[in-house]
Amino acid sequence: MLDRSTIWPYEDGEPGEFYYQRYGHPAGVEAERALGELDGGHALLFPSGSGAVTSLLLTFLEPGKTVAVTQDAYYGTPVLMRMLERWGLRVVEFDQTGAPPEGVDLVWIEAPSNPLLTMPDFEAAAAHPAPVVCDATAATPVYLRPLERGSDFVLHSATKFLGGHHDVLLGAVVAKERDDYEQLLEFRTRSGIVAAPDAAWLLRRSLKTLRVRMEGTTANAQEIAGRLEAHAAVERVRYPGFGGLMSFDVAGGGEAARRVETSTTLIKNATSLGGVESVLETRARWEAGRVPENLVRLSVGLEHVDELWSDLEQALDHAEERRA
Ligand code: PLP
Repeated sequence: MLDRSTIWPYEDGEPGEFYYQRYGHPAGVEAERALGELDGGHALLFPSGSGAVTSLLLTFLEPGKTVAVTQDAYYGTPVLMRMLERWGLRVVEFDQTGAPPEGVDLVWIEAPSNPLLTMPDFEAAAAHPAPVVCDATAATPVYLRPLERGSDFVLHSATKFLGGHHDVLLGAVVAKERDDYEQLLEFRTRSGIVAAPDAAWLLRRSLKTLRVRMEGTTANAQEIAGRLEAHAAVERVRYPGFGGLMSFDVAGGGEAARRVETSTTLIKNATSLGGVESVLETRARWEAGRVPENLVRLSVGLEHVDELWSDLEQALDHAEERRA
């Protein structure tokens, strides 16, 4: 049963395990236990992936400290970091397929990156003296456990594959060390950047199907990536071979890509990723200059693969006909 209480009575005049929701609540603790087990560390939930990013930065850095973030991280991550520059944070960008720059205080990688799908050089990141945060939103612990690859923290937008149904906004950090977890928990409690019981309950429910969802999604995505590669209207496909996130460039430029995203019917033209229902969108509308104009990001869900393909094929054919 979902317990939405904000208070629980003291036991014999003393606070028990739960007493005030900002400090902790049963649905949160339960979901954190399950996620911590999956990632092999100590998990904390936040109201969104971005809330988790903010909390990590404010807990472990201070004015004058520098974070090195991969240049192809989810675009909102460096935007948020740059907003914190006026509080004294320094931000540099680097190419995560190589070594992080020297002299920085925190290394931020994303595996795989959204939407360019690069994978970091884990060994080079782990060899850096600074702590490493790996945003593993698109991989999930089914395909990647960054704490076993030398990272100190895993970050998830649980809004995506972990939640999996486009119905919960949520973030998480999984810390390798108990001390780091304690520090982050203290910040979360004091700042009030705390996930609500309903969201935590939805995550706990979703984690029960995470493995089968990811396996089904991967099977679909592998097939779709192959068929896209072979299509004359597709110039390039980026897919790491696992998970449901991919991107492809449409021949004919930005206009042709726009025609593809507005021509699918089963696959909704919407943002976000990681749900059982497939979505796609051109990304230049959000992050022009960082991605090709003709890049379409596709999040593959659990629909029948032939139905997904016929939807994509008719949209690509439509874009091609208009070009001819
Ligand atoms: N990290 C990645 C890789 C993302 O794709 C996103 C959102 O798209 C975030 C972090 C931010 O998460 P949220 O939207 O839950 O704040």
